[in-house]
Amino acid sequence: MAAQTEESDCGREQTKAEQDVDQVRRRAARDQQRLDSGAVTSPKDLENLQREITSLAKRQGDLEDVVLEVMERRESVQERVGELTGRVASVQERIDDATGRRDAAVGEIDGEAASVTKERGVIAATVPADLLRLYDKLREQQGGVGAAKLHQRTCQGCRQELAITELAEVRSAAPDTVLRCENCHRILVRTADSGL
Ligand SMILES: [Zn+2]
Repeated sequence: MAAQTEESDCGREQTKAEQDVDQVRRRAARDQQRLDSGAVTSPKDLENLQREITSLAKRQGDLEDVVLEVMERRESVQERVGELTGRVASVQERIDDATGRRDAAVGEIDGEAASVTKERGVIAATVPADLLRLYDKLREQQGGVGAAKLHQRTCQGCRQELAITELAEVRSAAPDTVLRCENCHRILVRTADSGL
């Protein structure tokens, strides 16, 4: 935006400089016309006129240099505007691409969440109400994990190995007994790899 502003400032500067050149050129042409017409006869007036024409020619040359300088500056600013515009377009393209991928990922996650929620509902319906209440309460207290696998004598919820006495209790418990980790209080789930 700054480069575009600079470019339009240069444009205005160029117009102004060209108008200055025009003004001087018209005045010189008028003087030349008067000189050529023969209407001015006094030697002093003729000399003055001649002098003015010479001075206007020099002034016109200086002003034309100004126009050229402004044009050069404008050209380099235009180049910069072009380069920056290209970069903006490429960044925008990357934003669009990332936005598209994000939206697709969100859609996928939403779909996955809906299907997992549905699955959980089906499984939760088979769990006795009081056990489900206990599980939900523990889950809330224990950072989202209410039940943990007992893997090689270690609670996978708190990563603590069970004490010998605790292990003995687990070994002797009936298969449908709800066991809890003594350390983190999570429900312990026995598997073939529990190391019992
Ligand atoms: Zn534990």
